[in-house]
Amino acid sequence: MSSHDTPGRLTCRETTYLVSDARDRPLTDLEVSQLQAHIAGCAACQVASRQFAQVFAAVDAYLCREPAAGRSAEQPK
Ligand SMILES: [Zn+2]
Repeated sequence: MSSHDTPGRLTCRETTYLVSDARDRPLTDLEVSQLQAHIAGCAACQVASRQFAQVFAAVDAYLCREPAAGRSAEQPK
């Protein structure tokens, strides 16, 4: 149980997961700040998050979806 994990620090992989999670659910304040903190200090994730945004925008346009701004009417299971 003694890993090198620093609380509050995300790995690049976790950052990637969070970015894609953000498509499906609102991130918590903690997650957002962790995400921002990681991206601010990680050049690779700065590039990746930009590419994510472009990919997501392209998918949204393709699916004629509205940007994920408002609440959706879908009911959770
Ligand atoms: Zn990173």
